[in-house]
Amino acid sequence: MTLPRQRIAILGGGPGGYEAALVAAQLGADVTVVDSDGLGGACVLTDCVPSKSLIETSNAMTLLNRSAGLGIATGGLATVNAARLYERITDLARAQSRDITARIAAENIKVINAHGRLSGPGTVEADGQHIKADAVLIATGALPRILPEAEPDGERILTWRQLYDLTELPRDLIVVGSGVTGAEFAGAYLALGSRVTLVSSRDRVLPQEDEDAANLIEDVFRRRGMTVLSRSRAREVTRDQDKVTVTLDDGRTVQGSHCLLTVGMIPRTEGCGLDEAGVKVDARGFIEVDRVSRTSAPGVYAAGDCTGVLMLASVAAMQGRIAMWHALGESVGPLRLGHVAATIFTDPEIATVGVSQRAVAAGEVPGAGRARTLKLPLATNPRAKMAGYTDGFVKLFTSPGTGVVLGGVIVAPRASELILSVSVAMEQRLTAEQLAHTFAVYPSLSGSVTEAARKLMEFTPDSL
Ligand SMILES: Cc1cc2nc3c(=O)[nH]c(=O)nc-3n(C[C@H](O)[C@H](O)[C@H](O)COP(=O)(O)OP(=O)(O)OC[C@H]3O[C@@H](n4cnc5c(N)ncnc54)[C@H](O)[C@@H]3O)c2cc1C
Repeated sequence: MTLPRQRIAILGGGPGGYEAALVAAQLGADVTVVDSDGLGGACVLTDCVPSKSLIETSNAMTLLNRSAGLGIATGGLATVNAARLYERITDLARAQSRDITARIAAENIKVINAHGRLSGPGTVEADGQHIKADAVLIATGALPRILPEAEPDGERILTWRQLYDLTELPRDLIVVGSGVTGAEFAGAYLALGSRVTLVSSRDRVLPQEDEDAANLIEDVFRRRGMTVLSRSRAREVTRDQDKVTVTLDDGRTVQGSHCLLTVGMIPRTEGCGLDEAGVKVDARGFIEVDRVSRTSAPGVYAAGDCTGVLMLASVAAMQGRIAMWHALGESVGPLRLGHVAATIFTDPEIATVGVSQRAVAAGEVPGAGRARTLKLPLATNPRAKMAGYTDGFVKLFTSPGTGVVLGGVIVAPRASELILSVSVAMEQRLTAEQLAHTFAVYPSLSGSVTEAARKLMEFTPDSL
């Protein structure tokens, strides 16, 4: 006798939704994905993929601008063809969405292109259809937060999702908000040739990040000509024809040609039928989930940005997969947020994994309390010297006594690639000694990781 196939309904086709759908299909479930805006979600169509594509171009500009120092005569100033740049980005995002659509179709996963909602126990309603499911996953993502005194008009006052409709590069860009998104766009547009003013309500940019890394980036921004206004909260943004004015809390004003608002995200759950289904949300409206993605309603799971848990594509995807493994009876471990590797794609990039400097300073390292720290400037690395990189560092944290790697921070070009060695060391509970005995290529930036590990090796008096 064959058991009936489990039925899974997924609301939202971003990384939280489509990665879950692939896992559920792999486990033999009958899967339906309901998505209103295109598979890949905001991640692929408006947020992560477009912004990282823009940053690839800005990195190329930075390289061109540094090329004289490397002995190359470019014969003039490189400039950006904005129309071509934005066309490339939107083409690339659509192509990525098409690839995901093809992959989903190949697994025989049903897709309904519509807005959907929970309409009863184990039922999702979309496009006039009622889809019965043994388990439902909500992965509807989030929306840019809008301030009532700074309404985007899509032309001069913009959210990041509206940037790619522009036909020109902002001449004079004011970025409001100095978190990850604000810092990434401010740095990228500066490199592309815009004049940039970054309005930060806090003492420094990237207030939630490693302090050494954030101070380094702010210093790089200022050296490259960005105006960074610290402790300056924007109260209002207005437009007068081709000019925008940002009024700060203390009455000062800043003028520019465009204003980009990066002041956070709100969950996209309106009209999803959460209340009726008994799905609890927190004070900010994000869906409450446990570490296997269960909500307060039986049989209803949630994943990704709508849960407000570390808003990263990798985390959304993992929450979605965990939900499906759990719902379909596979053995599954809870989400481990302490192991998430993340990168801020400024130039240089900031990549982090594991414990933070803040936890180390406060003596709050999970399990160990304290940690040993070693910070090695990138400027001493031979490969960095060859490439002309002067800004950056490798920082490692180890457990005192055992030497087990607890995490690290890398600030360097392509730090997003370099951090993997620290992630592997952490995941596998390797010691500084084991990392130090690993061969790194000479010359390479990753040589700084093994060198930092060497400096953290602990020797007993007898072994000296
Ligand atoms: C500018 C920017 C850059 C970023 N860069 C990175 C990065 O470099 N690395 C990284 O890991 N993360 C990055 N992120 C975060 C990443 O984009 C998100 O964490 C990720 O998109 C979350 O995926 P999700 O599946 O939860 O939601 P989304 O990607 O938002 O997808 C949700 C989908 O659900 C659909 N939907 C919503 N409501 C309904 C409904 N009722 N019915 C049907 N469909 C619905 C939406 O149309 C959408 O397609 C970035 C975010 C921003 C804003």
